[in-house]
Amino acid sequence: MRLHDFERYPLTFGPSPVHRLDRLTDHLGGAAVWAKREDVSSGLAYGGNKTRKLEYIVPDVLASGADTLVSIGGYQSNHTRQVAAVAAKLGLGCRLVQERWVDWDDPVNDKVGNILLSRIMGADVRLDDSGFDIGIRASWEDALREVEESGGTPYAIPAGASEHRLGGLGFANWAFEVAEQERELGVFFDTVVVCTVTGSTHAGMVAGFAALEDLTGRRRRVIGIDASATLEKTRAQVARIARHTAELIELGRDLRDDEITVLEGWAGDLYGIPVESTIEAIRLSGRLEGMIIDPVYEGKSMAGLVDLVTSGDIPRDSTVLYAHLGGQPALNAYSGIFEG
Ligand code: PLP
Repeated sequence: MRLHDFERYPLTFGPSPVHRLDRLTDHLGGAAVWAKREDVSSGLAYGGNKTRKLEYIVPDVLASGADTLVSIGGYQSNHTRQVAAVAAKLGLGCRLVQERWVDWDDPVNDKVGNILLSRIMGADVRLDDSGFDIGIRASWEDALREVEESGGTPYAIPAGASEHRLGGLGFANWAFEVAEQERELGVFFDTVVVCTVTGSTHAGMVAGFAALEDLTGRRRRVIGIDASATLEKTRAQVARIARHTAELIELGRDLRDDEITVLEGWAGDLYGIPVESTIEAIRLSGRLEGMIIDPVYEGKSMAGLVDLVTSGDIPRDSTVLYAHLGGQPALNAYSGIFEG
């Protein structure tokens, strides 16, 4: 099937906005920087990248006859918050496993931000002490079994909706949306910068841009900035999901290794713990652009973008598209960083 033949259940307002970051561009003194904003493109609980992935998963949920969405993430998972919102919108139950993915001792870490929103939206939120891992977890399999034992019909959505067979389609479509917006705006984004952790956002883009390259002959760099701090796992997962998604949309060739780039250097030592460059990047985009980014994901990819532009790794004559994937609610659990 071609990408446009896959059924898509609309959860967004339409194409996410694209705009120039003029003051950031001037400040960095290099390539022109633009942003595409997944954080402001849906009315469902502040949106974000999972909402776009879920647009391609919901038709399968509805066809399955399930009555409860079951998913997993950290206490401050943006993904589980978006699953809770989609369950509310569809009138389904929602069971969430929230693990202690981040050793972050903010006293309200399991009370505010994303987890608060999931509770407000009626999800059955259960805390679990397990640490960070992007793979399939026992606690999640237990949750699925418990829903079944209590007479429900669960629909399983893995962490970040990444290991789902349709998980890459949302961002493959994002690539085509970018191409349409480029036509309208009269620009070409030769470089795309995206945060990557569970992998299907980046992987979907890789598959989508590969299909576009084959149509137009124009190459671009899609740079994934690792925020998992488990680089090899994330690299392998991105490559696997990109190849699977490419096959799904009938790309008709294998992806080249140079089409799959995950860079390290801005994640720090641990997932979910901001480092100095993360905090500087958050302050920079806030002060120069009024654009709010979070300490777990987007702060890290923005730190990568800042360094790649200022070092000239992304050349001066480039036009860069920064994928803003949402995630701001988590800031509430990190308020201590910005005190004083
Ligand atoms: N940015 C935000 C705000 C996220 O919530 C996530 C989710 O994990 C990511 C980036 C990374 O996306 P992915 O898990 O698809 O690699």
